[in-house]
Amino acid sequence: MTRLPIYLDYAATTPVDPRVADLLGRYLTREGVFGNPSSSTHAFGRTAAQAVEAAREHVAALLKADPREIVWTSGATEANNLALRGAMRAHARKGRHLIAGKTEHKAVLDVCRSLEREGCAVTWLDPEPDGLIQPERLAAALRPDTVLVSLMHVNNETGVVQDVAAVGALTRARGVLLHVDAAQGAGKLPIDLRTLPVDLLSLSAHKLYGPKGVGALYVRQRPNRVRLEPLLYGGGQEWGLRAGTLPTHQIVAMGEACRIAGAEMADAHDRIRRLRDRLWRGLAELGEVALNGHPERHWPGILNVSFAGIAAEALLAAIPEIAVATGSACASASNEPSHVLRAMGCDARRARGAVRFSLGRFTTTAEIDYTLEAVGTAVRRLRDLSPLWGESSGGASRAVDWAAP
Ligand SMILES: *Cc1c(COP(=O)(O)O)cnc(C)c1O
Repeated sequence: MTRLPIYLDYAATTPVDPRVADLLGRYLTREGVFGNPSSSTHAFGRTAAQAVEAAREHVAALLKADPREIVWTSGATEANNLALRGAMRAHARKGRHLIAGKTEHKAVLDVCRSLEREGCAVTWLDPEPDGLIQPERLAAALRPDTVLVSLMHVNNETGVVQDVAAVGALTRARGVLLHVDAAQGAGKLPIDLRTLPVDLLSLSAHKLYGPKGVGALYVRQRPNRVRLEPLLYGGGQEWGLRAGTLPTHQIVAMGEACRIAGAEMADAHDRIRRLRDRLWRGLAELGEVALNGHPERHWPGILNVSFAGIAAEALLAAIPEIAVATGSACASASNEPSHVLRAMGCDARRARGAVRFSLGRFTTTAEIDYTLEAVGTAVRRLRDLSPLWGESSGGASRAVDWAAP
């Protein structure tokens, strides 16, 4: 028997892996390693500092980066703020222009908007209907005063994977910085910063089975050190880039979460791909179901679909024992149709009908099968009740083209 409720919202946050939680608990109490990592005069501090540096190596190893390129933050939101605000301030003499995708997470969009209010110019890149941003669009947007481009790796609503390598080749050739929000992709898809021309990259522990409230910003050191103006001033921690006493327990936990993610990545990907394909095949059998996002270039842990004739809220209300999302967690609070799907050219009805299923480390085949049963029953019932559906089904005057983009 499947345990209820079923969690299919791993893109919003993941549970902490029990192996990570065990370790975290050992860095809090008097019996554990509680010292301040900056207290270099005694063993309490030095032991904590060693744990922080070991964790830094795990995070760096996941990205094939150097440990000195990893700066601890409170999460991907702070990492994005530090990357964008820090780079625009440090390079103000070069220019005040930056470029970002329209399908970025709020934690990039809102930073860009705040920079706009402060006098920076932002060019917003439109995606294709499949969610991919064409490198040619970026090439056309680059200007002599462009300082930075921000483009996410895996989209949190659709799972679409941007072509970071192609974009990086363009920015590198033009001497423009490239920031990548990799909160959704890190630990799930391989990232090799020895070859990927990325200068700044944001991570979040709670998207990869670590705790909330900790993340990191990768800041390239070779061949050239990326200059950033810090957001926080204080004790000079993190080479002066991010002051504040390091939360050893959080950091150790993020390091362990990254170590596990790296070690298990290939197996996890295969498993999640199989579960996602099973879910998509089952949902597609219901008919008039559209996949939102590129059919191949996506991370399989995120499946975003619209059911013709059904509003997402109605479907969610009909399956209370299954935790799924409409759009992104942040957008669902505001009840606006997803900015990501709208940017991809979805009409409002299809965007409002979008449901995000996100799968992860603890998802089982039984959970997928239960979900298919429950969603199938709900979709058939809601369509039977819907006057719009009755009119349009079978008719040629369907207002929406439900074929996948
Ligand atoms: C979750 C998420 C964030 C925010 O990360 P926090 O660590 O919660 O601040 C930023 N970008 C993307 C793509 C995310 O999925």
